[in-house]
Amino acid sequence: MKTSRILPNQSTDRLGHITIDTMTHPQDEAQHLSLTDPEGFWGHQAEQLHWHRKPSAVLKRTTKDLKLGTSHSHWEWFPDGEISTCYNCLDRHVLAGHGDQPAILYDSSVTNTKQRLTYKQLLAEVETFAGVLREEGVKKGDVVLVYMPMVPATLIGILAINRLGAIHAVVFGGFASTALAQRIEASRPVAILTASCGIEGNKGPVSYRAYIEEAISISSFKPPKTIIWQREQLVWRPIKKTEGERDWQKLVKSARFRNIKVECVPVRSADPIYIIYTSGTTGRPKGVVRDSGGHAVGLHMSISYLFGIHGPGDVMGCFSDIGWVVSHSYTLYGPLLTGAATVLYEGKPVGTPDASAFWRLAEEYKINTLFTAPTALRAIRKEDPDNVFITEIGRRGGLKSLKALFLAGERSEPAIINMYQDLLRRYGAAGSQVVDNWWSSESGSPISGVALVPHAGKNRKTNMKDHPPLPIKPGSAGKAMPGFDVRVVDDEGNEVPRGNMGNIVLGLPLAPTAFRTLWGDEERFYKSYMIRFNGKWVDTGDAGYVDQTGYIHIMARTDDIINVAAHRLSTGTLEQAVTSHPLVTEACVVSVPDALKGQLPFAFVSTSDGGADVKSDEQLFQDIQKLVRAQVGAIASLGGMIRGKGMIPKTRSGKTLRRVLRELLENAVHDEFEKPINIPSTVEDPSVVDVAREKIREYWHAKSGLHAAIEARAKL
Ligand code: AMP
Repeated sequence: MKTSRILPNQSTDRLGHITIDTMTHPQDEAQHLSLTDPEGFWGHQAEQLHWHRKPSAVLKRTTKDLKLGTSHSHWEWFPDGEISTCYNCLDRHVLAGHGDQPAILYDSSVTNTKQRLTYKQLLAEVETFAGVLREEGVKKGDVVLVYMPMVPATLIGILAINRLGAIHAVVFGGFASTALAQRIEASRPVAILTASCGIEGNKGPVSYRAYIEEAISISSFKPPKTIIWQREQLVWRPIKKTEGERDWQKLVKSARFRNIKVECVPVRSADPIYIIYTSGTTGRPKGVVRDSGGHAVGLHMSISYLFGIHGPGDVMGCFSDIGWVVSHSYTLYGPLLTGAATVLYEGKPVGTPDASAFWRLAEEYKINTLFTAPTALRAIRKEDPDNVFITEIGRRGGLKSLKALFLAGERSEPAIINMYQDLLRRYGAAGSQVVDNWWSSESGSPISGVALVPHAGKNRKTNMKDHPPLPIKPGSAGKAMPGFDVRVVDDEGNEVPRGNMGNIVLGLPLAPTAFRTLWGDEERFYKSYMIRFNGKWVDTGDAGYVDQTGYIHIMARTDDIINVAAHRLSTGTLEQAVTSHPLVTEACVVSVPDALKGQLPFAFVSTSDGGADVKSDEQLFQDIQKLVRAQVGAIASLGGMIRGKGMIPKTRSGKTLRRVLRELLENAVHDEFEKPINIPSTVEDPSVVDVAREKIREYWHAKSGLHAAIEARAKL
């Protein structure tokens, strides 16, 4: 299908003329092809997988009519295809003779256990456990909720659910009962897979029992079965059989004894493979639904094209929790779809036992691509500011397999990218790079990034070594990924010239891995993502710009933009300037109300311990202020700054909860230090909010003159 719309390799100049960039790089070519000929592009990618029924078409454009009377354009990938993702992840590789290749390399630094599962072994486990689930009443189309730690049983459980054609809904094993109950209520699972305990860092085992039982008692929907993986660190006893509780290992033993095994049950391409609830900062969680066919095709493409993992012999190390989309896609499905090995790490970046964990894993398992969140690297840098660990391992050649360090989940400030890029240049594989990539639970795979093997987009079978990737640009999350038509628009939905900040939106259709609806709530899908631009664009909720060369810069959530005297400043730009100070290890900038200018930026900073250059808070503020003025402009001058530790609240997935700090500052301006604020249930450590509240109170009292003046002006 050819279109005449303006594509990302084209832009309009200020007079509205279309300008076309020269396309030379294969990443640009792949991108262009994916948008101008989606059938050709994705058809080629789909052929690499096994279909129980081959799709007769690649893309069907449709219209969706909503109960509220509106209708909007819609789409469906591989409409009449039938596929089993489990078959493509396991059976296919064993049948191709790769059964003895490693599939899962489990490494738990919290229990000191390691386990290696080959494809053949993993398939045997999954076949049996799928049999168990079937005997417990799970069938095609049912939802099974998974609330588990990072152990091999979790991946076995998820694949077994998929083998039956059922739908999994994984909930992060660190969520408390209220968050869990909300997700049970919303997804109505026929069974819950859980474990007797999780092990949170160096804090020892945490029993899951109380969380599960309380969540079930709160929820009006009662899942009939709870299947418990027993861990020796803390056993779940007694198992209340009459209440539907089952011992996982006992069921497996019995099934194995009876030689119970299950073949793959294929589903239609548009049938859901899973539901994932967005980390959400407020309100009811949104159940993002992932289509089976598009998910498999899109991940199988990106794991090779973007991440440089092509098949047996390659090793992926994606260190996120299985409760998040990153881990669904690149700890589990991506690597297994291609027949590579995945490192399943149970532990933290620091403290289990120290900040060397990731580099030790990279060395031990010869990881080729390591994927984590910038917040993990900041934690490592805080513990090991001089990079002693990575340098030691790097010097003995331990990181020679490492081709890339991928970062996502939040914006990566150039300071952190540059630091790790320099280390990779010295110790990683030739050409190794740090790749910031931008995506969301909704997109299912990166919307932007720098493809390690760009020509694999156009033709997966081409020589994997023949073209270098695009250069990275620290501060940018790379260029658009195939199938994602990224645009920057003003509040009316009109495209803005390149280089200008605006709302980042996506043209229709979205790429195959992306969602097309929310679980059981078509109306909410439209209202949350499409109504803002009248169904023309999908709103990502992020703000930023595309520069002259097509690189995408994600600068803030649209809600976090700071408005100073009608100038819109992004948190990303300001945090970038603040973190360029060598003492700053972490920064968060939010707005504080100001009577004159509307809002002023206000910084919360953490600095590294020790070092010869420990400055007073006032000196540090002056230095940082200079950096902000020089890098962003006088208009962006900070209204204030608080220095401290453990005061920047985060979600459990590592996202900074700027809204919480903003609310605390707003309350402080009104002298309402104790006013309760809405803290989302996804907060990692609620006590951090109390530290912030106290720090703000101290600061306000110390600077009473300054902020009283703001208040006085406000009353004029
Ligand atoms: P989630 O759905 O919880 O994975 O969150 C998705 C959101 O995380 C995006 O909409 C962005 O706001 C943010 N995000 C993810 N990756 C990046 C990145 N590389 N740069 C900036 N923001 C990011």
